[in-house]
Amino acid sequence: MHTDLVAALDIGGTKIAGALVDGHGQILVRSQRPTPAQRDGETVMRAVEEVLGELTASPLWERAGALGIGSAGPVDASAGTVSPVNVPGWRDYPLVRRVRQAACGLPVELIGDGVAITAAEHWQGAARGHDNALCMVVSTGVGGGLVLNGQLHPGPTGNAGHIGHISVDLDGDLCPCGSRGCVERIASGPNIARRALENGWRPGPDGDVSAAAVAEAARFGDPVATASFQRAAQALAAGIAATATLVEIDIAVIGGGVAKAGDVLLTPLRKALGDYATLSFVQRLAVAPAQMGTDAGLVGAAAAALAKRTDAATV
Ligand SMILES: [Zn+2]
Repeated sequence: MHTDLVAALDIGGTKIAGALVDGHGQILVRSQRPTPAQRDGETVMRAVEEVLGELTASPLWERAGALGIGSAGPVDASAGTVSPVNVPGWRDYPLVRRVRQAACGLPVELIGDGVAITAAEHWQGAARGHDNALCMVVSTGVGGGLVLNGQLHPGPTGNAGHIGHISVDLDGDLCPCGSRGCVERIASGPNIARRALENGWRPGPDGDVSAAAVAEAARFGDPVATASFQRAAQALAAGIAATATLVEIDIAVIGGGVAKAGDVLLTPLRKALGDYATLSFVQRLAVAPAQMGTDAGLVGAAAAALAKRTDAATV
């Protein structure tokens, strides 16, 4: 049988998306359900099975040679389990086994959502052609992943590159992860908004207190809004510089809702990198906005599945 396609699942706290994807990253069939995130684990799994059911019903399904899953984390790729923070019904949930059952025994590759987005940016987006890259998602949380020596580097459990929980402030605020002063505790959207409000920024008549509203105020010169973005940029820059110093990345790609602030974030970020990325071998580090849109998770999961299929073919 000619298996030139792969199946992909992108599992997050708000939606479960599935697709059949070709070797060029084109999505040929897609399916989606809202995540019943507050329900029990079996109910969440049924939504995954419905998404898979639409894929397996496609006449193209028989061309799928592997299935990739990008899931909200933490994931444990070595155990095949997931424990997404925003899906309390799944703790050490045996997602790989359940998906393999629902997908007629296809080989299944599991990676974290930050790693999936990295795979997508490396394959089709802003990190294309870069052998050493850090890709980040800055939104409700801060996630990321690494490409090293031209290969995706998920690490043993599929979580490597999780830059949001690098500490950049030793005695900083407690982070929900248990550490202090994490990048995410300073640079995530909710934390940008919280800090602006604490320092006296007030929303407009629409009452919008999101990071996007803070970005809009910063664009119009509001000093408190600007300072909150500068602080976030500083935390991101310190995390990126640490990563670059450790493993010599040459590009940092930044996506996610907060990155839509554009120059409000990127200008102070590039400036702060000058303060933290100081050694000769990290000074040329580039910062680029992400290019992959809302399909990044699916395309990245497909990339992981393609790599798995290729591995299997060479065994
Ligand atoms: Zn943390």
